[in-house]
Amino acid sequence: MKLRDKNVLVVGLGRSGLAAAELCLREGAEVTANDSRPHEAFGDALTCLEDRAQLSLGAHPKDLFTSADLIVLSPGVPPLPALDAARRAGVLVIGEMELGSRFVRSPIVGITGTNGKSTTTKLVGEMLEAAKIPVFCGGNLGQPLCEAINAGHPAIEAGVVVLEISSFQLETVQTFHAHIAVLLNVSEDHLDRYPNYESYLKAKARLFERQTMDDFVVVNADPGQVRARELASRSGAPRLTFRSAPSRGSGAWTHGDQLCMRLPQQKEEYYPRSALRIPGSHNSQNALAALLIARLAGASSEACQRALETFEGLPHRMQLVGDHDDIRFYNDSKATNVGSVVGSLSGFDREVVLIAGGKDKGGDYGPLAAVLEQTCRHVVLIGSAAARIEEALKGAATFHRAQSMEEAVTMAADLAKPGDAVVLSPACSSYDMFKDYIARGQAFAAAVAGLSRG
Ligand code: ADP
Repeated sequence: MKLRDKNVLVVGLGRSGLAAAELCLREGAEVTANDSRPHEAFGDALTCLEDRAQLSLGAHPKDLFTSADLIVLSPGVPPLPALDAARRAGVLVIGEMELGSRFVRSPIVGITGTNGKSTTTKLVGEMLEAAKIPVFCGGNLGQPLCEAINAGHPAIEAGVVVLEISSFQLETVQTFHAHIAVLLNVSEDHLDRYPNYESYLKAKARLFERQTMDDFVVVNADPGQVRARELASRSGAPRLTFRSAPSRGSGAWTHGDQLCMRLPQQKEEYYPRSALRIPGSHNSQNALAALLIARLAGASSEACQRALETFEGLPHRMQLVGDHDDIRFYNDSKATNVGSVVGSLSGFDREVVLIAGGKDKGGDYGPLAAVLEQTCRHVVLIGSAAARIEEALKGAATFHRAQSMEEAVTMAADLAKPGDAVVLSPACSSYDMFKDYIARGQAFAAAVAGLSRG
């Protein structure tokens, strides 16, 4: 992409926005960096741009937007009237990931879905690393793509680029082309940002727009994921599916204790599920998807096997953080929607006292009822969504209220019996009580550690 002397406006100055601004400067553009937050909110984070870019802080001035040659958006930027005006004026508006993708020479793996993106992205990265294939693994998880390009990451030129992609990032793609496009699953999420479920799905489907017969689609084939397959059918690429039940043909599936897979025109391969350290049937699904992706991207089955055996999962996703009097405590703070809680608790092998709640995202809590009936007698609710959750799930369990994480953990520990698990899996975002899901998970782990001292 030619950016020399172009007037580029970068909107949203978090980590992705700053990396995009840096890339544009490096390519010779005249950059204006804009954010609704005032200068004081940034500490010294903007020092890197001073004297090199214009700063426009505290508002989104319409003239700035309509007079740009190109606008690059960070994924967190909400819909803005100034952006609508720019689009009407014919200004090209793209996202940070779209910008970065124009500088990538290696094949791109794009992983999206409502849940499991980070886990699957990281596992694929470890499989490719085990195979000694140069790999950059990031995007919505960890390092933004533009930052890796600025740093001269070797996999950008020759290797594989594995990107976790959110629906927000997919809203602003234009020429983005994934050689392997992956849709892990879809369920209701982010209804505080999208007018309805259909518009959320429409954003996800954009991953498939430019795929051809030379690419691949990997998609969930479980009976509850018909919508995922419909969205993936917009791709022009051959499709490989994964499912949690025995199957035939090409794709990946579970059969007893085996993760099984077969690439087109190749022999079946088997991997023992018991070798996986990450718990739960949802993680077996993530592993099936990762196996298909990594093998398609050139990793050997031996390398995949080694990575499966050593992958420890990511923090804040069903992470065991304590074991007191045979009660296990799991931090699943990253479970910020209903589908993720269903994923984590389905087939869980202990009775669970669940800690849930937080900031409501506007979705339906109803789908939690069945899994609560199967696994939980008690649910301790926190945060501003507590009343809505209790109302939606009346009768599925006994509900209790707590005002803080410490109180919730103490209450849950009292309600649990030896052999049970206490799981923080909130089904909500954290912003009413915490800075983010990480701070929430840390508060849970600290409260659990406090139990043993008390
Ligand atoms: P994402 O990046 O999509 O948010 P993560 O890998 O970070 O996904 O997992 C977030 C949460 O989603 C986990 O804490 C777990 O509760 C749940 N989860 C993970 N994988 C799946 C899956 N395949 N299906 C349903 N829920 C899942």
